[in-house]
Amino acid sequence: MTESIFNLAFQQDDVKSKIVVALERISEVFRALLWEHAKTIGLSPIQIQILIFVAYHQESLRNVSHLAKEFNVTKPTISDAVRVLQKKGLISKHPAVYDNRRYSIALTPEGEAIVKETENFAEPIKKQLQSISDEHLSLFHTQLVDLIAGLNRSGILSEQRTCHSCRFLEKDKGEAFCKLMKKPLLADDIRVDCPEFEAI
Ligand code: SF4
Repeated sequence: MTESIFNLAFQQDDVKSKIVVALERISEVFRALLWEHAKTIGLSPIQIQILIFVAYHQESLRNVSHLAKEFNVTKPTISDAVRVLQKKGLISKHPAVYDNRRYSIALTPEGEAIVKETENFAEPIKKQLQSISDEHLSLFHTQLVDLIAGLNRSGILSEQRTCHSCRFLEKDKGEAFCKLMKKPLLADDIRVDCPEFEAI
């Protein structure tokens, strides 16, 4: 019997394989929900993801290079999506304040309206978490953040804006502390996408 995650005979007795398969199912639901919304407004999933990302992230992250890293796709894929969004009047490009040799992407009022219409696409997943106790949610969050950090450390996942890879994180006897905000970070405070993040 091969010890493959997808070999059902092996998988049944291996909880790690079952978790990987479960994560795959959840990512399929995420993609399906995104597609559903994308179809109704004539955009592709990556175009919607770009719009939502641009709506909530700082200027230094709103460019083709960063978006390619963020969504683990090639720069040409992002460039094509950005071109279409610009043609549809949903985004505009302007020289970046931090470096005027680069440009940054911003939403137009039409782009903002599309974000309002689509940004709740993942709510059905969140709704399913309502029945889980706070204690189990905390544990779930911690395990997921650790998994992301591990994937990041092993080079599988590009730079993540989590506390675990931030230069402001200080650890003392297992306690986490944010040197920027000058406060202890309890398990639930560990962020998965922090606007103040700076890589180590
Ligand atoms: S700046 Fe943000 S990511 Fe960095 S340690 Fe503080 S809370 Fe975490």
